[in-house]
Amino acid sequence: MDSKSQLQYLEYRRKRVKRIKAFMLFICALFVLSPTVLCTVLFFKVIKLEKAFENLEGQFIMAQEESVKSETFVADSIIIPNTTDTIIKDNTPDAEKYEGQTRVYLTFDDGPTDYTDEVLDILSEYDIKATFFTIAHEGKEVEYNRIVDEGHTLAIHSYTHDYGKIYSSIDSFTEDITTMSNYLYEITGVRPKFYRFPGGSSNGVSGISKDDMFDVLDKEGLVYFDWNASAQDAVAGGLSTNQVVNNVLGGINENGETVVLMHDSAGKSTTVEALPIIIERLKEKGNVVFLPITEYTEPVQHVKKGE
Ligand code: ZN
Repeated sequence: MDSKSQLQYLEYRRKRVKRIKAFMLFICALFVLSPTVLCTVLFFKVIKLEKAFENLEGQFIMAQEESVKSETFVADSIIIPNTTDTIIKDNTPDAEKYEGQTRVYLTFDDGPTDYTDEVLDILSEYDIKATFFTIAHEGKEVEYNRIVDEGHTLAIHSYTHDYGKIYSSIDSFTEDITTMSNYLYEITGVRPKFYRFPGGSSNGVSGISKDDMFDVLDKEGLVYFDWNASAQDAVAGGLSTNQVVNNVLGGINENGETVVLMHDSAGKSTTVEALPIIIERLKEKGNVVFLPITEYTEPVQHVKKGE
């Protein structure tokens, strides 16, 4: 082998060794990278499955509640002797059941707070049931449960009450509602059926399509209620007790249904003071019935679907 061929041979060997090295590096990289990629893919799959499972679990719980409800109903109608009468009576809309009477639905927004306990004490004293459109307040578990245990209607007002957040998109609107529904369900075991829009259904804050929001409520099995009388106690600075009394009494529809908007939020001491006066004055007038919102209540809605 002359020196030229020897050089060529060495060059050939050098290239071969380089190729083998590159190949080995490639194999090593493949062994390191593929498990990482696989892990990432699996990680996202697990998250997706967890979400699907949560959804199914929610649906299952709701279905269970429904079946318990219908079972109870069937059981009642079997045990009570005059079944036909009982069923008709139980399914009668409030408007029919209390025809000719002044129907007053007291509703309290933005609680529970320390004032809620006072409101509940007053209602219990007069044996009156009302409706509480609540938001999330840490440490108020006792009050949420008192609302339920004492026979009032526990309803959703929102989780955060932060207009900017809730109405920023249809997704965040939906999330706020489902979070609050789950929050109340975990604390009380009750899945709320009624909703009040922060700012009311006619609020000008939201840029989202109202019909889209109504669709979300339908899907969540929620009926929304606005009001046709207001204590106007949400105004900054607060009102005197007399003003609250006059605002409420001035809005009462004596020949039908009045859904009264009041607040049991922080700083509403005059609302609490006004409450027994309002009840006494209405009772003095006579022919009045105080009711909680139920599925038999005709909804008061400022804006309806398609409007
Ligand atoms: Zn509110």
